[in-house]
Amino acid sequence: MRVLEKAPAKINLSLDVLGRREDGYHEVRMVMATIDLADRVECESLAEDEIIIRASAPYVPEDDRNFAYQAAKLIKEKYSIRAGVRVSIDKRIPVAAGLAGGSSDAAATIRALNRLWKIGMTYESMLDIAGKVGSDVAFCIKGGTALATGRGEKISPLPPLPPCWIILVKPDVSVSTAQIYREWDDQPAPALHPDVDAMIAAIARGDFLAICRLLGNTLEAVTMNKVAEIARIKAHMNRIGAEGILMSGSGPTVFGLTQRESKMQRLLNGMKGYCPQVYAVRLCRSAELV
Ligand code: ATP
Repeated sequence: MRVLEKAPAKINLSLDVLGRREDGYHEVRMVMATIDLADRVECESLAEDEIIIRASAPYVPEDDRNFAYQAAKLIKEKYSIRAGVRVSIDKRIPVAAGLAGGSSDAAATIRALNRLWKIGMTYESMLDIAGKVGSDVAFCIKGGTALATGRGEKISPLPPLPPCWIILVKPDVSVSTAQIYREWDDQPAPALHPDVDAMIAAIARGDFLAICRLLGNTLEAVTMNKVAEIARIKAHMNRIGAEGILMSGSGPTVFGLTQRESKMQRLLNGMKGYCPQVYAVRLCRSAELV
């Protein structure tokens, strides 16, 4: 038997790091939104008690370093499942890009195995497994628009964003999230924090222009120091006229927001000549409805 789940990417509209915790993780406040750029995760039951991972892209580990592997292992242990599984991941989300591709694959694996093995997991038990795999996995279980706090594992749903286009521009470099957080630790405390509460209020009002104005990511300056292209991409998107522009997660992907289709087309064409990986995508109300 096989079960297929889509694994959509996310963007961060607001990302604040409050500090490093005793356990080594960082205390964060993030507003995240699911977008319709998605990997495909197929889980097939195997008679042998083993976990096999196949990924369609280079640089994606196919052993126990893969987040999908870790999710499958935790589920097998928690629910004493003896059957095995082959997880085939068709990668469409750029890797190490700040779009939570690996985390979303893990979340899709949790949803898929719940169906494949008819476990009947509650949302809370899915969140519990997710939190053990990685900080962004919990958000990716349901997706949509949400505030993530703690180290990212505490999820509070928010109303959907006003409809808009998201233009993603991924420079031809990959960035390690762990490395960016290490460099954030070494810097003096940032004087300015993104106003996460004002972003939540703007989303509640459905105020698109305020959402654009309030976009903020405390990690942006750190990654920009390493990847000079980010500033160039932002400046070029600004010249073309995106209403809001920000780096997602630990980067290096930059996104621009617009509600106008003609502007989306101009951004898409203008940025394509500038960077190899450019996408125009929409928001998704839920990770399960992509
Ligand atoms: P985030 O925004 O959550 O920080 P990211 O988009 O920056 O994540 P990912 O694409 O999730 O980064 O990949 C980060 C690293 O995780 C990769 O370099 C890879 O070694 C590892 N990894 C583990 N599982 C996966 C997976 N299923 N897909 C992609 N990368 C994976």
